[in-house]
Amino acid sequence: MKKIMTFPMGGVHPPDSKEYSNSFSIRNAPIPSLAVIPMQQHMGAPAECLVNVGDKVEEGMLIGKSTGYFSANVHSSIPGTVKDIQEIYLPTGMKSKVVLIELEGEFRKPGSKSDDWRSASPKDLLDKIVNMGIVGLGGATFPTHIKYNLKPEVKLEYFVVNGVECEPFLTCDHRLMLEKTNEILEGIEIINKIMNPQDIYIGIEKNKPDALAVFEQTIGAKGLPFKVMPLKVKYPQGDEKQLLKALIGREVPSGGLPLDIGAVVSNVGTVFAIYEAVCLNKPLIERIVTVSGTAVKTPSNLKVRIGTKIGDLIDECNGVSKKPGKIIVGGPMMGFATADLNAPVTKGTSGVLVLSVREANLAGELTCIQCGKCVAACPLGLNPTTLYKLVDHGLYEEAKAESLFDCKECGCCAFVCPSHIPLVQGMRLGKFMVKKQKVK
Ligand code: SF4
Ligand code: SF4
Repeated sequence: MKKIMTFPMGGVHPPDSKEYSNSFSIRNAPIPSLAVIPMQQHMGAPAECLVNVGDKVEEGMLIGKSTGYFSANVHSSIPGTVKDIQEIYLPTGMKSKVVLIELEGEFRKPGSKSDDWRSASPKDLLDKIVNMGIVGLGGATFPTHIKYNLKPEVKLEYFVVNGVECEPFLTCDHRLMLEKTNEILEGIEIINKIMNPQDIYIGIEKNKPDALAVFEQTIGAKGLPFKVMPLKVKYPQGDEKQLLKALIGREVPSGGLPLDIGAVVSNVGTVFAIYEAVCLNKPLIERIVTVSGTAVKTPSNLKVRIGTKIGDLIDECNGVSKKPGKIIVGGPMMGFATADLNAPVTKGTSGVLVLSVREANLAGELTCIQCGKCVAACPLGLNPTTLYKLVDHGLYEEAKAESLFDCKECGCCAFVCPSHIPLVQGMRLGKFMVKKQKVK
């Protein structure tokens, strides 16, 4: 029997609430009549907009060109006409230029599956990932080509596929693993060809026994050299630092990357996007989104075109069943609350949650009682209450010196805080202010 692993320090056990949507197969969301496509939907520099108002675009056409190495291409998710180009704020708080495309014209016919990658060079495969605008779909949206572009002298020890999906309510990765097992495995083979790691692990938490079983069986049947690694259910195990600590027992250094400890991690959604890019010549123009929460009538997993409005997804799920307390883009622990139903789905949107007033936990903030629960819950060994107080007093540099930038904004501290102190918002504000002062 396999050992079931986890990370050793901190973490929490929120109710996983997966039962609302995990039995629903992925279905297509409606094609948006107007797609709102941001140039900034990845970590790094925004893409440069290549189109003007009035231009005709095709489905999958490059409309935003990456502006350097730390950036990513953006493609049109629908065929149509560019109606407007605006600047908007996304639910993440980030300001972005967006291209508004009105649906018009023909969709491209899906190409037949190609196996040409088996004779392609690693460089050609990496170029494909760049061209198709692939970024991490687990939420961080880190451009994938940067992770995979290893220096010739680097011998990668571990490639880890992240199938943890530890955020409550989200089941998009779970459904993808069940419904696209073969495609994900072929995606891993492609990545194996690019980086040639010594070991490949697929990390899945025990609350997805069907996904663990289907990967074990299919890998065995195909004779692939990949190892399925069951993990205990604990949040935030899906964070790459915690996942690596759990699986390989090594710690990513402060300010460092998984590569510093010999590993690269990619989410299962990213691996599937790589399969589609390489085998189907398909740019990243759609993704799976979980629409859930107790205030949504029909929780679902939807295949969604980038640029679809989140309000349209809630409508597709038959609207709300009770008064919503909060709408969150992403998961309840790390996502962003929004009141803007016109906000578009981006490459990083894993979920749209409509929480009831009770779930939204709108209790008012009380004084810190120095209980220390936030310190015990932090998986990174930070002192959230001290960091919050420093930020609250405008002492941003002091907060930085206390490792503010190590905070992954996982929300464990806020989850356990009996005084409902908005600790994560404090961390975000502190980081924003440090960066702002640096720019000045
Ligand atoms: S949000 Fe930051 S400070 Fe709070 S528990 Fe997570 S990593 Fe620690
Ligand atoms: S959990 Fe909340 S009340 Fe307790 S020490 Fe941390 S901030 Fe203060």
